[in-house]
Amino acid sequence: MINLKKTIVYGINRYQKDFEYMFPKANVIAYITDSKNNKECNGKKCYSINEIPNKLKKYTLIICNRKNEKIDKIVKNLNFKKAYYLEDIAYLLDDNFMQFSVNFMGKHFNEWGCVRYKPNSECFKEMIYTDSIDNIKCDYPFRYAQIQPGGYVYTCCSNWTTMEVGNIFFVSPKKLWNSNSAKLHRLAIINKTYFFCNFDVCPFIKKSFKKTDTRFENLTTSKYPNEVCVSIDRSCNLKCPSCRNSFCNYNGAKYKITKHLANKIIKSGWATKSKHFIMSSQGEVFFSKIYKKMLFDSKITNRDYIKIHTNGTLLTKKTLDKLCAIYDKRIEFLITIDAATKQTYEKIRFGGNFDQLMKNLENLSKVKNENPEKIFVLLFFVVQKDNYKEIPDFIKMADELNFDMVNFTRIDNWGTYTDEEFKEISMFNKDGTPKKELQEILKNSVFKDKKRKVIVETNELIR
Ligand code: SF4
Ligand code: SF4
Repeated sequence: MINLKKTIVYGINRYQKDFEYMFPKANVIAYITDSKNNKECNGKKCYSINEIPNKLKKYTLIICNRKNEKIDKIVKNLNFKKAYYLEDIAYLLDDNFMQFSVNFMGKHFNEWGCVRYKPNSECFKEMIYTDSIDNIKCDYPFRYAQIQPGGYVYTCCSNWTTMEVGNIFFVSPKKLWNSNSAKLHRLAIINKTYFFCNFDVCPFIKKSFKKTDTRFENLTTSKYPNEVCVSIDRSCNLKCPSCRNSFCNYNGAKYKITKHLANKIIKSGWATKSKHFIMSSQGEVFFSKIYKKMLFDSKITNRDYIKIHTNGTLLTKKTLDKLCAIYDKRIEFLITIDAATKQTYEKIRFGGNFDQLMKNLENLSKVKNENPEKIFVLLFFVVQKDNYKEIPDFIKMADELNFDMVNFTRIDNWGTYTDEEFKEISMFNKDGTPKKELQEILKNSVFKDKKRKVIVETNELIR
């Protein structure tokens, strides 16, 4: 058994800091460096390799350097009783419950999700040898949890990150939030490796960057996620070609398991303690039986406010009245529409009824005008070949309805298009720049209209 009660650390670079972050209980009492110039590190004494007091040699030496023959030789001559390379003790980070959950879920619910389990030890080993780069300071893994079908939890949008941090079917939410996997995701931001981030998809990551030796300081983890996004049910009344090839409505075993998962979330405390509670980024909130039940569960309706992500087609006057009566402080609606005309809408939001949607939006606008503090409305528009010409009219429509914000995003390939089809549908070149036709639309006078009240977000298009 490795004794980490008193340790001496060889190295004072990023690897050493990674070690201290991941093994906070390891009591580092001194450092060893190759240089004579460093006398102190983190308030502890630094010894050069030629001046180590013998009394230190009874403690465990942790070598925070890349393994190689030269280092091997130096370490042998240092004559410590016990010495371990950082990468060799990485196995101490493995959480058994992760492996168990993957085995179980892999056997029973494989069709639900992409289990990409890699032991923490492997991730840590790869991460410590990944270069740090100068990029954005992101605090998602420190405050955010998204729960996906099958109970998988991500500390970022599940599409932007490459790995989940655990599964709440098998481990308590509290344990999961403080697990080694969750810590590793946080470390990847602190040490600027962005090890779990999908560089092609994350809208915040800068596309050009330099290597760096610095890390982010002052990123603190909240006790529980501040922002929880429930995305456990894919059931929806629409079949948008960008999202799926067939209609989906959970029933049978899938329904039962998802209902059980919903109860776990309701009881977890996350629903009441988190500042932001979002339903949902998968499926339709007003169609799924499970989401509807959650939305009106007393533990959730206790909240001051809620964010509801919807396609808007089922947000009728009756439903809105019911919501307003229950959530009396604030409701934020995030409504994805993607079109300004009936013809385009009914092509790319297959199964949707544009006339009914407009009726719902006009009623929402009326209620918002009567309760401006209580209702916030953000409209989403996923830009693609079939709709980009409607961008200016969409902004005008949102302004006329007196909504707060419109946000334009890029279309992603969720596996419903072939590469050729996607190249055709996407309005972006291979290097990420907008295609010429889209650039022309983005010069429209509506973007500079000073009388317009609605806020327009196009950052994702021109990143
Ligand atoms: S993928 Fe982007 S948003 Fe997610 S953790 Fe990484 S940098 Fe943050
Ligand atoms: S409305 Fe949303 S969840 Fe439903 S099919 Fe369309 S994109 Fe998917």
